[in-house]
Amino acid sequence: MATNNLTGNSLTSQAVPLSLNSEQATSLIIERARQLVNQLVEQRGHDKPPFLPEELARLQGIKRIEKADLGGTSAVLLRFHDGYVIKVNQNHNLARQNFSCAHEIGHILFSELKLRRYIRSIEYRTFNPGGEREARTRTIERLCNVAATELLMPEFVFRKYLSGFSVSISSIERLADIFRVSIQATARRIAEASVEPCLSLLWQPWPRSKPKGLRLAWCIGPGRNSRDTAKYMPVHALVKYPSKLHKAYQYDSPVKSWKLFKVDNGVKRLPMESKGFGRDETRYIISLAFPER
Ligand SMILES: [Zn+2]
Repeated sequence: MATNNLTGNSLTSQAVPLSLNSEQATSLIIERARQLVNQLVEQRGHDKPPFLPEELARLQGIKRIEKADLGGTSAVLLRFHDGYVIKVNQNHNLARQNFSCAHEIGHILFSELKLRRYIRSIEYRTFNPGGEREARTRTIERLCNVAATELLMPEFVFRKYLSGFSVSISSIERLADIFRVSIQATARRIAEASVEPCLSLLWQPWPRSKPKGLRLAWCIGPGRNSRDTAKYMPVHALVKYPSKLHKAYQYDSPVKSWKLFKVDNGVKRLPMESKGFGRDETRYIISLAFPER
């Protein structure tokens, strides 16, 4: 206990903030991820994607990345006296493995920034006596995903490519391929990084066993700010058969439609582009909607 007091005193002299809100913590970890990307860009002399975890790992004291059969786990971070080792699930596809490794690098950045001591203030609203551990885990995992996104799809590079292609549902596969990330991670990133306001939505058959329609799994954007993200929501989260969305589900070509969205206190009709991805039971639809078109 005495040591705790001592640490407390020495910390106050370094002007360590008493609390951090969610946005501040998010900005801090993004900033740290950017430093790492910049370091890599400087070292290799260009900023062309992909930004592979293997390259980033070398700069971050990670000795190696090992592929292993991890069952249901995506990746684990092991700490040794002379550095880290990441084990990644060899049964997952490469795009997913990349994200899992980048997420583990995110854990290292999280601990470098000593964000754990702020965890209570970062997500103070969600804390209740029963769910404290879960809320803490959720917060940490979310921040590590934010870091992973910035590492694999650095905003300034991603924006350059996005504007080169024009923001469209047809660009998703190309972008995912260039940055070696999944379709879904790319779709989320488009909503976050697009200069033109853009929403990204994921639809899945529901119920899984005997689908009655397509149900919204998530809707994000525009922008990174969580308040902006919550601003737009489709009026109907379940789309019943038949619909334009079902057409996108059945065929591989993009489908254009209009959809009603709740915006603040009103409702607005937005143009939307949708496309189906994946096969059989893993098939889903990504839509992009444009508030200013
Ligand atoms: Zn994690």
